[in-house]
Amino acid sequence: MSDVESTIKGVFGVILVAIGFVLLLYPILLILTGDTGLFLGIIYLLLFTLPAGIIMFVGARLLHKSANVNVVQTVGGESRLTCPNCGVRNASGAKFCSECGAKLVK
Ligand SMILES: [Zn+2]
Repeated sequence: MSDVESTIKGVFGVILVAIGFVLLLYPILLILTGDTGLFLGIIYLLLFTLPAGIIMFVGARLLHKSANVNVVQTVGGESRLTCPNCGVRNASGAKFCSECGAKLVK
């Protein structure tokens, strides 16, 4: 997965969690402001809780995935570029160690 893709997923995740949060807050706000009766407010709350929960869950999963990808890419990139001979870390894209000249494992 590319950086752009994981960033987009991260942004979508944040948006979805925010939408879920608003969906949960909305009926509570309705009850608090007294725009609807308490009874209707509770029905809204029950109706909104399930989709809000699902949306927040999906959003959280997207966030989690995008965070994981970044960590894996960072760790994987580092281990590939660490010299097997002397242990020096080399710049990304390097084929040979800058310190001892050993070939870096791809
Ligand atoms: Zn080396």
